[in-house]
Amino acid sequence: MRTRRKVLLGGAGALALGASGLVGRRWYLSREGEAPPPLDAQGRVLWSNWAGNAHAYPSVRAAPATEAELVAAMQSARAPIRPVGSGHSFTALVPTEGTLLSLDRLSGLASHDPAKLTATVRAGTKLSALGPALAAIGQEMPNLPDINKQTLAGGLATGTHGTGKGVKALHGEVTAMRLVLPSGEVAECSRDARPELFHAARVGLGAFGVISEVTLQNRPLSRVKKVVTLVDTEQMLRDWPALAERHRNAEFLVLPFTGKSALITHDTTGESVNPRGPDQDVETLMALKNLRDLFEFTPALRRRAAQAAMADIPPEVSIDEGWKLLSNERPVRFKEMEYHLPLGEQVAALREVIDRIERDAPGVFFPIEARIIAPDDAWLSPFYERESGSIAVHAWYREDHEWMFKLAEPVLREAGGRPHWGKLHSLGGAELTALYPMFAEAQAVRRSVDPAGQMLNPFVQRIFG
Ligand SMILES: Cc1cc2nc3c(=O)[nH]c(=O)nc-3n(C[C@H](O)[C@H](O)[C@H](O)COP(=O)(O)OP(=O)(O)OC[C@H]3O[C@@H](n4cnc5c(N)ncnc54)[C@H](O)[C@@H]3O)c2cc1C
Repeated sequence: MRTRRKVLLGGAGALALGASGLVGRRWYLSREGEAPPPLDAQGRVLWSNWAGNAHAYPSVRAAPATEAELVAAMQSARAPIRPVGSGHSFTALVPTEGTLLSLDRLSGLASHDPAKLTATVRAGTKLSALGPALAAIGQEMPNLPDINKQTLAGGLATGTHGTGKGVKALHGEVTAMRLVLPSGEVAECSRDARPELFHAARVGLGAFGVISEVTLQNRPLSRVKKVVTLVDTEQMLRDWPALAERHRNAEFLVLPFTGKSALITHDTTGESVNPRGPDQDVETLMALKNLRDLFEFTPALRRRAAQAAMADIPPEVSIDEGWKLLSNERPVRFKEMEYHLPLGEQVAALREVIDRIERDAPGVFFPIEARIIAPDDAWLSPFYERESGSIAVHAWYREDHEWMFKLAEPVLREAGGRPHWGKLHSLGGAELTALYPMFAEAQAVRRSVDPAGQMLNPFVQRIFG
């Protein structure tokens, strides 16, 4: 049977591998960069993020196993105090020369209410562990991001989201939180208790204290059918509003320079289980890279070779519980910029981003991703009071990503986009104040819980001005 893996590897991949001269030039441009040393001059151990584009040498590292230990750690911590989840943010939110606080040991399900379908979860729980833990009590999160390596608190802090018409980002389903403030005070907040703190700190960038526990509104565990289909990009852009409306979760990945896109949908089903096959991320991306290496300077040939390689690839179908299908393995490291636009602006802006990349950035080979997210009321949520269509661009971790700032970001900003807090962007306090109606209110809450700015590293300082 023809599969995405066989076709892409057997066709374009083999052809591209044969063209050693051009591939050699690209090999030179794409060689591994120099890594920061594992220890600094003072013997402090390196911390770096998943993409390898942010790092630091913290003076103190703490990993409390209980909330009481977290309180003690906060009271004696050397500033800047930065909580860390799985280090999957692309921006420099985490780096600190002061105290790095990991909640790895503060994880797991604390309690649940079967009647209300709520679950209280320790903040350091990884989404990959939360899926099966919730399934065991008959619950699931209504939404999951593209990967499940993040911690719950880390995901909430940056407005992490999945996709789906009417489906909110993760923080949209939080009903209560416990936070340890820089003073060591433990604050409980919800819509009824300390509501300002609740609205400001739900998407809090780790600047309001350290979240120790979160209560989530879940829904009954369900089985979904996942379908991945290759379609013509032109048709995809035309059909997107109707497809987003029709499917529970829909997104698409434009494969630049190919004229093709991958549509991914998930819908609730009663059909029997058909487990997912092996992930094809590595093969697909490396085939797209090989095409780029070979045909970088002849876009017409690149498109023709890609179209020939991708003709007649059948849809991939899997059926299972949602937590097993919605998130993927992403072993190929990359850097990413994502903006959340008013939904009505999404398709036009996406067309412009594709045009600019295909005209001026032939080195790009990673897909461009489009998703849809429902509005919510967290003050620093990129989806604050507006239904959003997101656009994300990616670059291989070894390669230049400056084109994102030059070509994509101006289009995404012009369309009124708000940046994903965990992904690359160039905005500071002044621009963000204009984009977030409740920014000043959130800032006032932040100052009241952290008057000395103990939780601010230089990057977070830039955001809050
Ligand atoms: C391969 C990949 C795929 C991704 N896919 C998606 C996606 O589909 N959708 C999406 O929206 N994003 C996505 N992201 C971005 C990612 O979800 C966010 O950057 C997320 O914040 C990472 O979670 P983390 O646990 O690694 O947190 P970190 O990156 O370690 O930290 C993020 C923020 O959380 C804060 N924080 C951590 N723990 C706490 C705590 N206990 N209390 C308070 N603050 C805390 C940190 O201080 C920091 O400000 C992806 C990233 C990668 C690398």
